[in-house]
Amino acid sequence: MYNYIIIGQGLAGTILSYHLLKQGKKVIVLNHYNPKCSSYIAAGIFSPITGQRVTKIANYEQVIPYAHILYKEIESLLNSQFFHVKPYIKLNVKEKIAHYTQARLADPEYQHLITPFAHKLGSKRVNGIAIKQAGYLDIPIMLNAYRAYLNDLGCYKEEQFNEDHLVVHGNSITYKDIKAERIVFCNGFNAKDNGFFNHLNFNPTKGELITIRMKKDMDSIISGNVFLLPIGNNLFHVGATYERNYQHDQPTQEGRNWLINELSLILDEPYEIIDHKAGIRPTTFGHQPFIGWHKEYDNVGVFSGFGSKGASLIPFYAKRFSDS
Ligand SMILES: Cc1cc2nc3c(=O)[nH]c(=O)nc-3n(C[C@H](O)[C@H](O)[C@H](O)COP(=O)(O)OP(=O)(O)OC[C@H]3O[C@@H](n4cnc5c(N)ncnc54)[C@H](O)[C@@H]3O)c2cc1C
Repeated sequence: MYNYIIIGQGLAGTILSYHLLKQGKKVIVLNHYNPKCSSYIAAGIFSPITGQRVTKIANYEQVIPYAHILYKEIESLLNSQFFHVKPYIKLNVKEKIAHYTQARLADPEYQHLITPFAHKLGSKRVNGIAIKQAGYLDIPIMLNAYRAYLNDLGCYKEEQFNEDHLVVHGNSITYKDIKAERIVFCNGFNAKDNGFFNHLNFNPTKGELITIRMKKDMDSIISGNVFLLPIGNNLFHVGATYERNYQHDQPTQEGRNWLINELSLILDEPYEIIDHKAGIRPTTFGHQPFIGWHKEYDNVGVFSGFGSKGASLIPFYAKRFSDS
């Protein structure tokens, strides 16, 4: 008898199951490994300030420090390195961005999080801000190491969950030969496909990302309309497109061209493109995640909908959900 069945081992299922195991709960994670899921495509940038409006994320003063603590803790448990703190530069490449960075620089509520920054681009200087407490998480490294850890504990099963085999009783769950007290869906935007949560307003968005190599290396994350994220060995991720009405989940020439064009506003170095990927983010219409228990079946839960901010939000909300 398990306390929890967790469906999905993307970033959400990983961090939620970590908290539950830490509390001494008996957990089994059922996951269909898919290197094309959002967590494997994501750049993994975390930051207290995001978006074109250069806005603080909700509860940033708890969310971001807790993410730092948790990722370091999991790094040490797994003896692996995937958490990288880096300055995050937002450049005024568009009038709208300039408007918001200026407003934030003048706002006392933002001053401890940002400093003015001037970036040299060829013969020009482009102004902007440097955001503190930011960086990136190499999510694939983390998920692969954590899956090996779960396997060693006997808590992982490679399995495509099929609702036809799920029976929910008053205070227990049966899935095939597995019995548990509770089940939580952490399967990204696929959570909308199950009969318990198909009423939730997911609004999945497609994102494309290219990886480039160049001679020059950098230490900061630089962004305008797109980000240029240094991941070591002269490699950089550049992303991301944001498409609501997509026809398929594959990379496109239009996406690639848009990224190249936007990149030219923040980079004047020669580079070669070595990879191009696409994934579907578990975004929601209200831009808020879905966390909680089913109204009628209070042992069936959902923990998803973290959109483009999973690396920042998931640690804090996993802790709150697992403590509840
Ligand atoms: C191009 C791009 C760039 C991004 N950049 C960033 C970024 O810089 N920073 C950031 O914070 N976020 C970013 N994101 C978003 C980020 O990927 C998500 O917020 C986060 O990874 C979502 O994690 P998840 O675990 O909820 O979902 P997923 O990553 O989708 O994981 C769901 C897991 O469940 C499994 N699964 C699904 N259905 C089943 C089933 N029936 N049975 C068993 N297993 C199942 C899947 O295979 C997968 O392993 C980006 C996304 C994209 C596409």
